[in-house]
Amino acid sequence: SQAPAADFGLIGLAVMGENLALNVESRGYSVAVFNRTTSVTDAFISGRAKGKKFTGCHSLEELVAAVKTPRKIMMMVKAGPAVDDLIEKLIPLCSPGDVIIDGGNEHYTNTERRTQYVESKGLLYIGTGVSGGEEGALKGPSMMPGGSEKGWPLVKPIFQAIAAKVGPKEDIPCCEWVGPRGAGHYVKMVHNGIEYGDMQLICEAYLMLKEAAGLTNDELYDVFDSWNRSELQSYLIEISRDIFSVKDDQGGDGYLVDKILDAAGAKGTGKWMSQLALDLGVPSTMVTEAVYARSLSSFKDARVRASKILAGPSPASSGVNIGDKKQFIEDVKQALYASKICSYAQGYVQLQAAAKEHNWPLNYGDIALLWRGGCIIRAQFLERIKEAFDAQPNLENLLLFPFFTEALKKAQDSWRKVVVTATQMGLPVIEFSNALAYYDSYRRERLPANLLQAQRDYFGAHTYQRTDKPLDKKFHSEWIQLR
Ligand code: NAP
Repeated sequence: SQAPAADFGLIGLAVMGENLALNVESRGYSVAVFNRTTSVTDAFISGRAKGKKFTGCHSLEELVAAVKTPRKIMMMVKAGPAVDDLIEKLIPLCSPGDVIIDGGNEHYTNTERRTQYVESKGLLYIGTGVSGGEEGALKGPSMMPGGSEKGWPLVKPIFQAIAAKVGPKEDIPCCEWVGPRGAGHYVKMVHNGIEYGDMQLICEAYLMLKEAAGLTNDELYDVFDSWNRSELQSYLIEISRDIFSVKDDQGGDGYLVDKILDAAGAKGTGKWMSQLALDLGVPSTMVTEAVYARSLSSFKDARVRASKILAGPSPASSGVNIGDKKQFIEDVKQALYASKICSYAQGYVQLQAAAKEHNWPLNYGDIALLWRGGCIIRAQFLERIKEAFDAQPNLENLLLFPFFTEALKKAQDSWRKVVVTATQMGLPVIEFSNALAYYDSYRRERLPANLLQAQRDYFGAHTYQRTDKPLDKKFHSEWIQLR
């Protein structure tokens, strides 16, 4: 048999694995590849991999034998039991100090468990978020690695070579060590949750511009094009702009976007973030509402029936005039920007709470940098978040960083106007109004929870604290009716 020659091993040649393997090879590394269905490996070797430094392997034994020690073997397979299964098979084949890497969208609790398990077998484990879809995987994804810290120096040169680059000289990799065990996958999940919020916000801006201001797809293209050259510059604004330019590809008249069924799908990372926010007791309302907005949209038949029964205004029947169109477009832009700030603020609060619970020493500025390029939420805006956490590593909420405080102050008249107009017109702007309610709750010294605590004490003797007594004192009262 041949001496092991490959610098890197990759398991799973579906969309992500294949493109990631090509990316690694293109940076000067030799790569051994394996896919469970061997015909996929063969097709890759004789197809896109032809003439390149790849070794096609038909078994895990062959793959492990083909990679130089300490081995770096990355799995890009369906998340869940398949990963446990592969780990079980790899452990006896690998040597002490080898690194097993999972690049899938894994629930962080699995990565927590697997890091400890693989370490107990004398090997190292890295669970890394990979974002950017097919193109990112090939040309430069955003990568969020966590796990066995000792494994990081071994994979760092390869990971940072393949990752997206940002900065004036385009030399800062969007890949840095995130933290122990499941920290990388947690950060990836928050990335995806923020992505849910960003997408829903853009859809609400679209709703207002289309239904309230009557913009055509051509005009929407121009608005999004100008937004993409402002503080809203981002990949999601850019692709939305492009979408408004695409004509029906089935030979019909008009634009493709208008032919698409308005029922959204989801794969679950948004739901995970929302569930974990509930467990942590932090208000990640934006991702939660974005998940609900998708599920509400999927009840298409029910909505069609209800639309004929339930009363309420429409933009035309409401009699509301948006006034100057140019100003209204600016108002929508400000509503989008302000809501986006709230969404990221919530995402970071959740990250901080998770870091505290799990003892992860997260660097929040670096995390913003990881998302600066390569991934779906990449945006200019993340530069500001990096600056905020670099200046104040323990910043308790992004809303309180002067740059964002000022932006919200500037945006809020527009933001409130858009929410009011939408409400009067019967247009649902779930995230715009949710963000505004979060903002108004967060900035209020006093909320009506005093009454809530009284109710809880009334029916359940749950006790309450008093504003005029030390907070470690709990009170209970006999709530008898006095009139
Ligand atoms: P995928 O459809 O999630 O998974 C297919 C791959 O997994 C195939 O190579 C398949 O092998 C392999 N596989 C499934 N069960 C297996 C098992 N029990 N043992 C060994 N191999 C098994 O592929 P993907 O879309 O490329 O995604 C890979 C991972 O990256 C997933 O965790 C995904 O969530 C994550 N991810 C995807 C994207 C994206 O845009 N697609 C973006 C970021 C992250 P066979 O050919 O033998 O079936």
